[in-house]
Amino acid sequence: MTAFWAEPDFDAHECVQLVHDRASGLTAIIAIHSTHLGPAAGGTRFWHYAEPAGAMRDALRLSRGMSYKNAMAGLPMGGGKAVILADAAKTKTPEMLAAFGDAVEALGGRYITAEDVGITEADMVAVSHRTQHVSGLPASGEGSAGGDPGPFTAMGIYHGIKAAVQHKLGKDSLAGVHVAVQGTGSVGGGVARLLAKDGAKLTLADINEQRAAELARELGAEVVASDAIMATGCDVFSPNALGAILDEEGIARLDCAIVAGGANNQLARPEHGALLAGRGILYAPDYVINAGGIISVALEYIARTKGTRGDINEVRKRLAQIPVRLESIWRESEATGASSDVVADRMAQKLIGRG
Ligand code: NAD
Repeated sequence: MTAFWAEPDFDAHECVQLVHDRASGLTAIIAIHSTHLGPAAGGTRFWHYAEPAGAMRDALRLSRGMSYKNAMAGLPMGGGKAVILADAAKTKTPEMLAAFGDAVEALGGRYITAEDVGITEADMVAVSHRTQHVSGLPASGEGSAGGDPGPFTAMGIYHGIKAAVQHKLGKDSLAGVHVAVQGTGSVGGGVARLLAKDGAKLTLADINEQRAAELARELGAEVVASDAIMATGCDVFSPNALGAILDEEGIARLDCAIVAGGANNQLARPEHGALLAGRGILYAPDYVINAGGIISVALEYIARTKGTRGDINEVRKRLAQIPVRLESIWRESEATGASSDVVADRMAQKLIGRG
């Protein structure tokens, strides 16, 4: 067996903590990839994994992704991620959240947590009773940063899609641009609503068919089955559900000019970035386009440590930088022939001192 730290996903993590609390039944992994730029910030995922190895892989890949995301968003934050291993029924108790808060507190501020898949704002409030190293708490008033990061993530993706459409299709407006949206939850739903306001033509899909149908009714969009959305003929495919959808099979099915969406770890393996580029599809690297939520979470946290409130205008200003960063990645990709994911990784690695 290869040594754990020789596994590619380990990627020189500074610290990987396995947490088990017998009394509450909590089992969790807290992965700290890098604190080069500041405390490691990244959400907590609450998920049932068929195999514990899947949870470890998720924690490591997501944690590295947070290092890259925070660096590329210009935040004074390193990267980390926590995964709580849920049982098949996804039982979540106040005692588990308290024990998780204690584990975060014990790290003394090296890791800052927030919401991710399966964790709500209310869960983060519960965690905040045990540790101060938490963000994504309800906004403390008008004009403050904070709360559910989903809408900020959606806003950043919307800016990114506009930039991609401009870059690839030479269009300044989204009117009539056809976007196929996979996943209509917090992020995908927000992206679809923003695109609809600009007159984009939308096709939606979600495994929760009722959710997709309701949003389609609200926005006057089309709905297709969730297994048909990747093959939908469109200008932009926007993945906002699961990761690892861009593999050989997924990429072969795409019928679009652009892939730009919020799901984390969209490329199943690093070589799939080149495969996408080889098909002439413009790719917006996931951790660059989906940084809106962490921008809000980080500014909220930094403000709280200074006894102030995060300024929502500062969040908006930083969201507006997402298309600027994407544009510089695409330009370098065109100049060097390296695919956009490789260009982004190189930029991020340099920023975290691992160039
Ligand atoms: P969510 O749970 O609110 O929504 C996800 C939606 O995807 C759900 O409606 C679910 O039914 C649907 N879905 C799941 N599998 C699907 C499939 N195979 N086909 C179609 N739909 C499917 O989660 P979210 O917060 O919207 O996050 C979506 C993605 O964005 C995740 O990959 C998450 O890691 C990523 N992300 C979220 C944020 C954030 O701020 N919430 C930030 C960065 C990245």
